[in-house]
Amino acid sequence: MSKPKVAFFDFTSCEGCQLNKLNLENDLLALLEHIDIVEFREAIDDKAESYDVAFIEGSISTPACVERIHDIRRRTKILVALGACAVQGGVNAMKNLHNADWVKETVYGENKYLFPSIPVQPVSAVVKVDYEVRGCPMTTQEFLHVFKSIVMGRKPEIIDHAVCVECKLKENECVLDKGMFCLGPVTRAGCEAVCPSVGQYCTGCRGIISNLNIKGAVEMLKKYGFSENEAYKRLKMYNTITLNGNN
Ligand code: SF4
Ligand code: SF4
Ligand code: SF4
Repeated sequence: MSKPKVAFFDFTSCEGCQLNKLNLENDLLALLEHIDIVEFREAIDDKAESYDVAFIEGSISTPACVERIHDIRRRTKILVALGACAVQGGVNAMKNLHNADWVKETVYGENKYLFPSIPVQPVSAVVKVDYEVRGCPMTTQEFLHVFKSIVMGRKPEIIDHAVCVECKLKENECVLDKGMFCLGPVTRAGCEAVCPSVGQYCTGCRGIISNLNIKGAVEMLKKYGFSENEAYKRLKMYNTITLNGNN
């Protein structure tokens, strides 16, 4: 039986998720026995006509991105969005909060007409996404879980509870009680609450839980002394598009 053909593509991103994959070392080497990586710009020069699985890093932010993602979707059986930029638009989507012309002028100056751009969108806004790996950078253990599940023909488990659950299970001291702002109550778990586990606050990189009561969450943060304005500002860092019009 032939091995599944796997490809990795980058769109608008810092490429941190792809580099994070290269850090998987032994786990990735074990996986390579069961798959053929046919495209991966960060590691090989090869190209292929079609794929069994395409992993997509980065958000959609230009007309060329739209054309390219449709082309990849047509040529792959399974498409996986990798990291906050691809899954929910990520930090790139903060661009959408500003005047498009001002953004282009600020970045490209007088050359702004050379760079056509559109509002940032997650990959799922343009083509069908089969699975997601969240985080900024993507959570490596989740990547391995999704990757292995696909190779074994199983559906990966989707986590949809808050980071606070993992944080409490680790018996961490809550950083809200120390006066820090933390988005753990509204953010999807799956990272083993890595930031609060080292005394840092959660910035919400894995996106918002699906059954969020946004007003209730903001009220809770206000009880810890944070203003409504600050709560929405921080929520928007990774979740501009998910919040869509909320304050
Ligand atoms: S999700 Fe974060 S690490 Fe990954 S490409 Fe986007 S900005 Fe970079
Ligand atoms: S530190 Fe953050 S993630 Fe942990 S329990 Fe407190 S609010 Fe939740
Ligand atoms: S704790 Fe929050 S910011 Fe840190 S990796 Fe997890 S979801 Fe991202």
